[in-house]
Formats: sequence, structure tokens, C-alpha cells
Amino acid sequence: MSYVQVSPGIRPDLLHSAEGRWRAIVETRPDLAPAIDLQRALLLLVLDLSGTLEQGRMPRLSLPPKYLAAKLARGVPVIAGEPIPLPVPILTPPMLEMCAALAEGGAGDAARHIREALAGGTIEPGSLLTASLMRDQNVIRMGAFHRGLSPDLLWLVGELAVSPFVHLLQRTLFGNASGELSAALDQWNRGYCPACGSWPAVAEVVGGHRTLRCSFCSSAWERTIYACIYCDEKSEKFVTAAPDQERKDRRIEVCANCSSYLKTVDLRELSPFPLLSITDIETTDLDMSAMEHGYGRPAMKDLKALKGQRAKG
Ligand SMILES: [Zn+2]
Ligand SMILES: [Zn+2]
Repeated sequence: MSYVQVSPGIRPDLLHSAEGRWRAIVETRPDLAPAIDLQRALLLLVLDLSGTLEQGRMPRLSLPPKYLAAKLARGVPVIAGEPIPLPVPILTPPMLEMCAALAEGGAGDAARHIREALAGGTIEPGSLLTASLMRDQNVIRMGAFHRGLSPDLLWLVGELAVSPFVHLLQRTLFGNASGELSAALDQWNRGYCPACGSWPAVAEVVGGHRTLRCSFCSSAWERTIYACIYCDEKSEKFVTAAPDQERKDRRIEVCANCSSYLKTVDLRELSPFPLLSITDIETTDLDMSAMEHGYGRPAMKDLKALKGQRAKG
């Protein structure tokens, strides 16, 4: 089984669970309190938007399971290259609020300038959201560059605003997969997300299953091989280490072939959307440790380079 269903949680439970995890982080790492305050503000906006989208209707998509299965078999994530209509009027107001939260939470003028550009139409919100859905880092970087905006922050803003939609889209496409699509998902054995093509934020290990969790749409999938998720290295160049000997439940997979790392944590259950970002912040010490040793996280995979991305049309 490569695709793992994560049941959508109920909002009060989600918040309760989130608050408990945030409290635990601040108890051991009081220095992370400002980062957690910002994460809380952003997560509330994401949850709220998620609730709005769940009540609405997903756009009609002409993506037959057979077509998606064929795409997956070629190693192409299902959303890549598809002209999927986005509910721009629903996503834009929360996106502006996310900019404001980021400005308040430490990003300051860099976030305020993005908010102004989006509100004033210097950047068309629909273009940013679409580029983010298509994971087109080049378009967003160029757009930021030409307007004197922070490319990383612009990428983050688009990603945050579109994440509830792409999560719902992923659930709609894969949630009741059967037949060929279900078989193609079972055979998905890549390091990148079968829905959107992003790299995982972390691997969450539950009951011995190393489940990769997409940093964008929160998809969950498992590989049948134990290898570097970025370059498939299997030799002794790829190792899993626990930087903190007292906490062997938290590890990093590091690869000397591609100089990249992935965080791996043992958990009782997979984090429901959008709580995966909490797993990420809970393990910032692992990022530090990996980076101190010269490992990094690779750029977004170039999905346009994947063969047959737009097999249809
Ligand atoms: Zn994804
Ligand atoms: Zn590697």
C-alpha cells in the first residue's frame, strides 16, 4: 500500500490537539514562542479557509481515474499540468490576512509589500495561486524579482493560501480511489508527492510504517524501498541518524550523494491536515543538526521536465 488515507479531523479536536502540541514545544523551547504564535495565527486562517471550502463544491474536473493512473505510471503527479480552476475570490481575502499575520509575526515590511501588491493588483492573486498549485517556483521567483518582493515569502504566501484547496483536491482525487487508480497509487514508489509533486516535509513513522507527508497537500504515502527520497541512493552513502541520543524517536535521513536530508519522527498517529506544520516546527532542532553537517533540502522538483506531463490536450 503506498497511498495512506488520513481521515479529515473535526475542527475543535484539531485545535485542541494543536494547542497541546504547541504548549509542549514552548515548555522545552521557550525561544520558539514567537514562531509558534505566528504558526497559530496562520493555522487558524488555514483552518477557517478549509472549513469554507469543505462547505462549497469542488470544481468539476475531467480527470478520469484511468487517465490519472496512466499519469502516475509515468511518474507524473496527477495535478501537474492540469488546468484546474481555482476559487480565487474565496482564497484571496484569507491570503491577504496571511500576509498581515506574517507582517505582524516578524516578516514586517517584506510581507506588507506583498499584501499591497496583491491587494493593488500589481500581482494578480489568481496568477500567484495558480503558479503555486502548479508548483512553479521559477514563475513565482521571477514575479517577485520584477516587483522587488521577497521570493521566498511570496512562495510561502501562495502556498499557504492554496494549501486547503490542494488538500481537498487531493482527497477528492484519491479518497475513493479504486480499480486502476488505486493500483497505480499502490505502485507509486517515488520520493515526491503523487498528487502535487512536492517533497515531503517529514516522514511520520506510525506502527513501523515510514509514511512520507507532503509539505503542500499533506498526502501520505509509503515507499517499498529504503533509500534516499531525493536521489534513490541505497548504499552506505545514505544513513539514518539520531542526532540526540536521548531521543531515538526523532531521526534524520542524510544522503552523501545528493547532500540532502529528511526528518523522520515516530508518532502515535499521522498528523491530520493542517497540523503537519506542527511536526515540522517540533523538529527544528533536527533541521539545525542536518544543516550544521552540510545537508540541505533540495529545490522543488522540476515537474515540467517530467515526460508526458500534459499527455492530454
Ligand atoms: Zn502533495
Ligand atoms: Zn540522495
